[in-house]
Amino acid sequence: MIRVRALLVEDEAKLARLIARGLTEHGHVADVVGSGEEALAVVADGAYDVVLLDVRLPGMDGFETCRRLRAARVWTPVVMLTARTAVVDRIAGLDAGADDYLAKPFAFDELLARMRAVARRVEVPRPTVLTVGDLRLDPASRRVWRDQHEVTLSAREFALLEAFMRRPGRALTRDELLEHAWGWDSDVASNVVDVYVRYLREKVDRPYDRHSIETVRGTGYRITADHADDLADGRTQAVDSGD
Ligand code: CA
Repeated sequence: MIRVRALLVEDEAKLARLIARGLTEHGHVADVVGSGEEALAVVADGAYDVVLLDVRLPGMDGFETCRRLRAARVWTPVVMLTARTAVVDRIAGLDAGADDYLAKPFAFDELLARMRAVARRVEVPRPTVLTVGDLRLDPASRRVWRDQHEVTLSAREFALLEAFMRRPGRALTRDELLEHAWGWDSDVASNVVDVYVRYLREKVDRPYDRHSIETVRGTGYRITADHADDLADGRTQAVDSGD
């Protein structure tokens, strides 16, 4: 049997105790912290096999915690625990660098099974570089290039571009983009997406005479490989490259 050393990040004390006790009873080791900030502080020193990360945390939420772990190049497998079952949450968790996802309430056996499965992966692969046309984004080093030119983005711009580049060609709603780049519990207005899309275009498109981030009328936005030619011959409808 694999003895797993787990870091449990859960602010609900009663639930945390319950899970920790269950893990201990099954021969595993469990440390408990109550916030993402604490998790970031201890995870590098703990030599954990897995991080069980609640999404709903005070302060920094689970998605952001996971994102920061990966940004700090901590590749310990992460299983997100969330009460929310929407597909978009699952995607947000995986986008943030989580390895698996478990919806509350869950059967304890399922938690054990998933925990063992991710902990068994001896080598956690570095995320691959995302490519759309000649635009490249490296989630691990958080760097972006247009052709040979490196593009400097703010953290938010990066998160937004990553959300686009993980679903090339697909129209994403403002709400979806908000969830990915701002976190689902943020209370920012959805028109902030429009503002940041404009920033992104100024950085990854306009200087290189590209129109990769398209407005999809009535929906939101999508990224495609450079479509200057399509625009010219009219194949792409409902595209508004302006603001
Ligand atoms: Ca919680």
